[in-house]
Amino acid sequence: MKRRYPSLALSKPSESIWRDYECVHGREVILDELETIATDAEGWTGPLPQKEIEVRLGELDAVIERARFGELVEGEELKPVSADPELWEIRARMNGKQVRIYHAEPQIYVNLMVGLRAHFKWVDGTQGEIDKVQNTEISRATKRFHDGQEREWRCVDPEAEPCPLDSPC
Ligand SMILES: [Zn+2]
Repeated sequence: MKRRYPSLALSKPSESIWRDYECVHGREVILDELETIATDAEGWTGPLPQKEIEVRLGELDAVIERARFGELVEGEELKPVSADPELWEIRARMNGKQVRIYHAEPQIYVNLMVGLRAHFKWVDGTQGEIDKVQNTEISRATKRFHDGQEREWRCVDPEAEPCPLDSPC
């Protein structure tokens, strides 16, 4: 499969649909991941104020909205994921650290973006170590994309067990 260029996130004017990936248990795991990013308290003394968390969640939302409207800047904010021609990497920052949000643009849909995984980029190592960690993150996003394809990235089992929170869903 050839990569579709440009990404929907770079194609103005557009308005794509953004769907948050749901695991087989029905948990929108990427929302938990975005929340983890927004609640990062490194460098803060005392607990993070709720107001600050809301501002940060708003910033992450705004990046996703700009992707949906095709307004991201190529390279600086959006890169192809070489492991999979349907995956893209959104680059943002939070609390002074680099954030990566992976989404898919499945080619059988005209304008669907599937939010797969979000995490802080780990940078405390050699380039080789950093790449290795990053590739593990990418495989997790790719796995969600392919595992979810048949069920259109939604939970389709009405009797699904609650998601075990320590599971790699
Ligand atoms: Zn699950």
